[in-house]
Amino acid sequence: MTAYDYDLFVIGGGSGGVRAARVSAAHGARVALAEEHKVGGTCVIRGCVPKKLLVYGAHFAEDLADARRFGWNVPKCDFSWPVLRDNVLAEVTRLEGLYTDTLTKHDVEVLKGRATVTGPHSIDLAGRKITAGTILVASGATPIVPDFPGAEHGITSNEAFHLDALPERVVIAGGGYIANEFAGIFHEFGAKVSIVNRSDVILRGYDESIRDRLLTISMMKGIEFKFHCAFERVEKGEDGRLTVHMSGSDPIEADLLMYAIGRKPNTAGLGLETAGVDLDGNGAVVVNADNQSTCDSIYAVGDVTNRVQLTPVAIREGQAFADTLFGNKPTRVDYENIPAAVFSHPPLASVGMTEGQARNKLGSVKTYTSDFRPMKNVLANRNERALYKLVVDSETDQVVGIHMIGPDAPEILQAAAIAVKAGLKKSQFDEVVALHPTMSEELVLMR
Ligand code: NDP
Repeated sequence: MTAYDYDLFVIGGGSGGVRAARVSAAHGARVALAEEHKVGGTCVIRGCVPKKLLVYGAHFAEDLADARRFGWNVPKCDFSWPVLRDNVLAEVTRLEGLYTDTLTKHDVEVLKGRATVTGPHSIDLAGRKITAGTILVASGATPIVPDFPGAEHGITSNEAFHLDALPERVVIAGGGYIANEFAGIFHEFGAKVSIVNRSDVILRGYDESIRDRLLTISMMKGIEFKFHCAFERVEKGEDGRLTVHMSGSDPIEADLLMYAIGRKPNTAGLGLETAGVDLDGNGAVVVNADNQSTCDSIYAVGDVTNRVQLTPVAIREGQAFADTLFGNKPTRVDYENIPAAVFSHPPLASVGMTEGQARNKLGSVKTYTSDFRPMKNVLANRNERALYKLVVDSETDQVVGIHMIGPDAPEILQAAAIAVKAGLKKSQFDEVVALHPTMSEELVLMR
C-alpha cells in the first residue's frame, strides 16, 4: 500500500509518545515506537508517579505525630527508606509493564533502543534503517546539570529514587517544582534540607501570596533557604561528605547535593538537523499549533517542545496529533486555564491568572482570600494556615484565577478548575451552599 515501513514512527515512550502511538494505531495507522530506557517516560518512571508515592510516604511523619493529639498511642516509629524505595520501584516496574501492554495490545510495535532521525522519513535504530510516512519526536526533557568544578558530585531527581541510604543533610539547587517537592520529602524523612536559589523567588509564576505562605511554613518546619547564591565549587571528602561553596553564603556541608534548576529538551544527537527541523535557543523542537515542525513529515509533542512541561498537556498534545493526522478529526490543544500543583508539604495548586497577571491584563480586579487554620491542624496543634485566593474580573464578575495552599489543595483545585474553565462568575460561586465542615467550603464562602 505504501513504500514506508510504518505510517508513524514515534521516538520516545513517555506520556505524549505513548498516547500518540496508541491512538494513531487505533485509528488504523501502522505504528512503531522506540524507547531507549523504559516505557512510561519521565512521569511514570522518574517523575510524577514515584515522586507522589514518596510524598505519601513522607506525609506519614506528620500524620503519626498528629495522631497522638487525636488520642492514638503511637509508639516510637522507625522509617525504612529501603522498604519505601523498593516498593515504589516495584510499582514503577508494574506500571511500565501496563504501558507496554497497552501499546502492544493496540498493535504498536515497541522497539528497544535509541532512534535517531536520518532524514524527513528515515530513522536509524542501532544500525537498522527504518522508514516512516510521519515521525513524531516525543523524546521529553532531562534535568539540567550545572557546570562548575565538582558539579559531578551532585545528582538530579532521576537518581533520587534510587538512593542507597537516606542522606542526613541535603542541599537542593533551585527553587522551583522539584526543589520544593523534594525539600518536603527529605525534610519529613528527617534530613536537614537547604534550598539554594539564584534569586529570592521560589516557584516563579505562582501567585505571590501562595508562594510566600509556602516559604513561611517551610522555614517554620526547619527547611533552610539561601537566596541570591551561585555555586562556585563542590569538594568531596574521603568520607564522601560534600562541601558546597557558593557566592553569597558560607560553605555548606552536605551528604547529598541535588540539582533542580529546570529541564532541557532531549534533542541533542537526535539527528533532527538532517531533516531541517528547527530548534529554539533552548534546544526545543519548534512546532506550530498542529505540533508540526519545520519539516512537514516530522512532528513533536510534550516536553521536547518546551511549551508546558506537564504530563497531562503532553497527553493532550499526543491525542490531538493522532486525531488530526490519522483520525480525520483536526484537533488543537487549548492551553488556557491549565491547572497545576506543587506537591510540597503542604501542597499548593493553581488555575488561571495570578493577581499580578490579572491586574496587568484586565486592569481592575477584585481578590477574595480565606486565610484559615484547617480544623484538623487546630486539634493537632499544628500551626499551619491554609490560604485560598479567588481573582475576579471587576467588570464581568468572572473568576479568572484560583490559588490555594493547604492540605489536599491539588485535589480540591481540580474540581474548582472546572468552574474557572467554564467562565463562572463569583456570584455563581456564592450561590452554592457550603459543604460543611470541609476546607473546600471556603471557596463558596469568601465575601
Ligand atoms: P523549575 O522551572 O520549576 O524551577 C527551576 C528553578 O531553578 C528556578 O527556581 C530557577 O530560578 C532556578 N534556575 C534556573 N536556571 C538556573 C541556573 N542556571 N542556575 C541556578 N538556578 C537556576 O524547574 P524544576 O527542575 O523544578 O522542574 C522542571 C519542570 O518540570 C517544571 O517547570 C515543571 O514544568 C515540571 N514539573 C512539574 C511538577 C508538577 O507538576 N508537580 C513536578 C516536577 C516538575 P529562577 O526562577 O530565578 O529562574
